[in-house]
Amino acid sequence: MKHLVVASRNQGKILEITALLAGLVDKVSGVFDFTDFPETVEDGATFEENALKKAREASCFSGLPALADDSGLVVEALGGRPGVFSARYAGVDAGDAANNKLLLEECQKVPDEYRQAAFICVLAFVTPEGVEQVFTGRVTGRILSAPRGEGGFGYDPLFLVDDLERSMAELDLAEKNLISHRAKAFMKFREYLETSV
Ligand code: IMP
Repeated sequence: MKHLVVASRNQGKILEITALLAGLVDKVSGVFDFTDFPETVEDGATFEENALKKAREASCFSGLPALADDSGLVVEALGGRPGVFSARYAGVDAGDAANNKLLLEECQKVPDEYRQAAFICVLAFVTPEGVEQVFTGRVTGRILSAPRGEGGFGYDPLFLVDDLERSMAELDLAEKNLISHRAKAFMKFREYLETSV
């Protein structure tokens, strides 16, 4: 593919995605490469709705194929929270520390055997010709009672990865990038590009 727009205002994410798509996409642009790129209101009830909405608006505005992602943490015992509200669980400007504090509080009375959780990443790919494809990656684990590890970001210190018995924050970046929800979704998208575009 010649040119792809990534519907994100996060420069770090755009760089990461550019690296993940090396060899398959000649040029990756972010929304800051355009003037007056519209800000999508993320008001969907699911990761898929939000990712598709962002990708549709980006493709429509730019006239290019667009990729958007939405991700977060789903905790079974909390009815799926924080879910699509993962980034603003404790408030719009609250940040990781406050979000993690709230998660610990909400899970305080949840017994160990009911602490199943998953990180989910949904990637939506939309083209001006009307192609719409969604790729989902998930990694399962359990919510810890106290933070472990210094790496990663967001809820990583509170997420014990199934089978590894290490928290996501105890993995180094290369290890995380092998098993993460984002890595799995991107692997599926790469396969799709390799075989279908
Ligand atoms: P985004 O959709 O990728 O911006 O992610 C939304 C929110 O989900 C982030 O602000 C984090 O709170 C949480 N999140 C997503 N991916 C991860 C991850 O890999 N580790 C920890 N938290 C994550």
